[in-house]
Amino acid sequence: MDPIDAAATRLARAARVTSFTGAGLSAESGIGTFRDDDDGHWRKFDPMVLASQQGFADDRERVMRWYAERRRTLQGAEPNAAHRALAADDRLHHVTQNVDDLLERAGAPGSRVHHLHGTLLTDRCNDDCGYEIAVNLLDAPILHDCPRCSAPMRPSVVWFGEGLDSAVWEAAEHAVAEADVLLVVGTSLMVQPAAGLVQAALQLGATTVYVDPAPDADIVDASARNDRLFVLRGMAGDVVPRLLAR
Ligand code: NAD
Repeated sequence: MDPIDAAATRLARAARVTSFTGAGLSAESGIGTFRDDDDGHWRKFDPMVLASQQGFADDRERVMRWYAERRRTLQGAEPNAAHRALAADDRLHHVTQNVDDLLERAGAPGSRVHHLHGTLLTDRCNDDCGYEIAVNLLDAPILHDCPRCSAPMRPSVVWFGEGLDSAVWEAAEHAVAEADVLLVVGTSLMVQPAAGLVQAALQLGATTVYVDPAPDADIVDASARNDRLFVLRGMAGDVVPRLLAR
């Protein structure tokens, strides 16, 4: 049987499915991925420097201008066929590393989308006083201070070296633990602790389906020994709608 059909059969039988997605899900919407972006959006600067507290301290304006560019790109983007297929299936809960809102724009209820790494849609106080405000993606403020405590404002994303929001992490762990099938799409699985969710699902014995044109080599190796682990090499916009067509 074609591996996509075999995985689709398992998915069709599942009562509860959790998606775990990364930058590859939004690649066909024109949003560059982190590691394999051809147009160089992420290559202009070192994201480890820009997406970090140290980078913000070194040159706050440079960091905010970089985010303003990413926000403008997001404003011009549309959900692709994979976002639409994931959002249309009401069995699904979504755990995403993406800071875009394309799953929600495709129709996924916000209460079912857990953004592990935060969102580009708001800025928050860098001193954690709790103040947060929605930003206009086309015209995001560059330098602005918290009206409550005067600390610098920054995007509500999780930077390298920062911890995840504990409530979001617990919701993600719960969504993975409850799933009959974990559908992993477009992630290099290089960022922890997020990538550990896939190991957790495998340990719990959940069927795991991983869609990526360049899948993680360890998962590919593991799939040879595990008939509940399907690795499907392909583009999200092509493979995900076929997996979820019922
Ligand atoms: P990554 O860049 O490390 O990996 C992207 C993966 O997507 C790769 O494995 C690649 O082979 C795959 N891919 C590329 N095109 C694809 C397609 N059309 N269909 C399916 N897969 C495709 O991204 P990551 O694993 O998400 O981790 C990087 C971090 O960067 C994340 O924490 C995320 O928050 C952040 N990020 C977010 C966005 C976004 O919000 N859209 C974009 C870039 C980076």
